[in-house]
Amino acid sequence: MARFVVAIDGGAGSGKSTTAKGVAKRLNFFYIDTGAMYRAFTLKYLRNDFAKGKRIDHELIRKLLAETTVDLRRENSDVKVYLDSEDVSLAIRTPEVSDFVSQISAISEVREWMVARQREVAEGKNVVCEGRDIGTVVFPDAQVKIFMEADVKVRAARRLKELGEKEIDAAEQDVMENIKFRDRFDSEREHSPLRKAENSIVVDTTNLTIEEEIEKVKAIVVERLAISGTEKP
Ligand code: C5P
Repeated sequence: MARFVVAIDGGAGSGKSTTAKGVAKRLNFFYIDTGAMYRAFTLKYLRNDFAKGKRIDHELIRKLLAETTVDLRRENSDVKVYLDSEDVSLAIRTPEVSDFVSQISAISEVREWMVARQREVAEGKNVVCEGRDIGTVVFPDAQVKIFMEADVKVRAARRLKELGEKEIDAAEQDVMENIKFRDRFDSEREHSPLRKAENSIVVDTTNLTIEEEIEKVKAIVVERLAISGTEKP
């Protein structure tokens, strides 16, 4: 079992990753980016069977799940994503993966595999875990549940900036469309759709700076840590 869990859910570009990463660093918690794990498996699938417009091959999905490892490793002050021992931290951020990841993530076998792996990664640790179904499915007993929101224009601008920093080319309109598409797809899917967990705290980051959103969530966590009597690691 994980020790203390901070679950952060929300739509694409809502500020989850930046906040989760910042809070984890400041409290020395382990950071679990579940989106990166779904992206890593999507990359593997695309490498095996990519053709635009082609139907997803469920047989291939099952075969690949049985022979795939996805790992998160802390390196210096960063957490890197490994797919079968290959560092794919950058390769999973391309528009090709972003365009396909929601369809792969909607498949129940993929979700079961990921949820089990995410719980395994968290075993025995204090974690900040971010995604779409963390407070509802992965860690329904999380001590802190946050749901992040932000205006879609602000979200697109943030994504574009992040991609620019990684030197990945993308047009603003495409980024905006991708965010809208994924939010709709992720919210409407049958298996563990994106939705607010009961008793989650909503944090709207539209008008917050990165520093403000990190401090806001950190303050909530510190208060809960004190109440639960968990030592700050
Ligand atoms: O967090 P990020 O935007 O990188 O996630 C990429 C995609 O992975 C999401 O759009 C969603 O389809 C999927 N995902 C998911 N459940 C999670 C995390 C991500 O379905 N817990």
